[in-house]
Amino acid sequence: MQVAWITGAGKGIGEVIAREFAKKNIVVALSARTQTDIDRVAQQIRAAGGQALPIVCDVTDPQAIENAVLRIQADYGPITILVNNAGISGSHKFLGHDDALWHRILDTNLNSVYYVTKAVAPMMVAANWGRIINIASISSKVGAKYLAAYTASKHGVLGLTRALAMEFVSNNITVNAICPAYVDTPMTDNTIVNMTSRTKMSETDARGYLGKLSPQNRLITSQEVAHVALMLLDDNARGITGQAINVDGGMVMF
Ligand code: NDP
Repeated sequence: MQVAWITGAGKGIGEVIAREFAKKNIVVALSARTQTDIDRVAQQIRAAGGQALPIVCDVTDPQAIENAVLRIQADYGPITILVNNAGISGSHKFLGHDDALWHRILDTNLNSVYYVTKAVAPMMVAANWGRIINIASISSKVGAKYLAAYTASKHGVLGLTRALAMEFVSNNITVNAICPAYVDTPMTDNTIVNMTSRTKMSETDARGYLGKLSPQNRLITSQEVAHVALMLLDDNARGITGQAINVDGGMVMF
């Protein structure tokens, strides 16, 4: 039985990935900072017949990451599937950019991927098999105003993805990034709240505006992102590594 760790699985994309993996008989360790969220997701997975281990872990804390890895390994064995999904968004004009916001976003979205992957990769090397999936963004490929920190963090995730794909190419470990456009999750709900508070847009208009950024004129669903993650686990996907797969309705074509 494969063991997967999905970070940021208390809600949004990570929650849906955890559910979908569990349906395929993968044991899922799911983490976030909010205990009640991960307990709820784990209980629902168990009620549906799956195996789930909820672990409180702040991915900006390297010691907490080490502790989580020890706990998962002790309970279930080596982790051979890792989904680096935990992330936050935040916007600010670059002139007068809030330094604390810069560091919070870089720590949560990029440095966490470094620390979590560093803690997990030895198990994959020992197993001579692994799948590392980083939930990046179209912000890994294009820039947008007021999103300097988020864009830098997600470009960094893609760079790390490509470097590690090469580093582990002889260990049967694939490393890929999934790059969604706006996804219908609590993160996007917060973005919409921010838009309505800063502009005269209604909630419906703000949601419509984000959807219209995609040629398909809609928000992506977490299910669509989870589908690509599942596909990457397949043995027939072993030739896919170092890739950045867009799930964006045709918004970005490279
Ligand atoms: P949500 O805000 O809906 O969920 C994020 C999850 O990550 C929560 O469970 C949250 O739990 C957890 N998390 C946040 N910070 C930390 C932390 N420091 N340590 C551990 N867990 C943390 O986000 P989405 O599901 O929308 O996003 C998931 C990923 O997808 C992110 O990396 C995001 O950048 C990316 N993405 C999202 C898009 C979107 O439009 N929504 C588009 C493209 C990419 P808690 O707060 O309890 O810790």
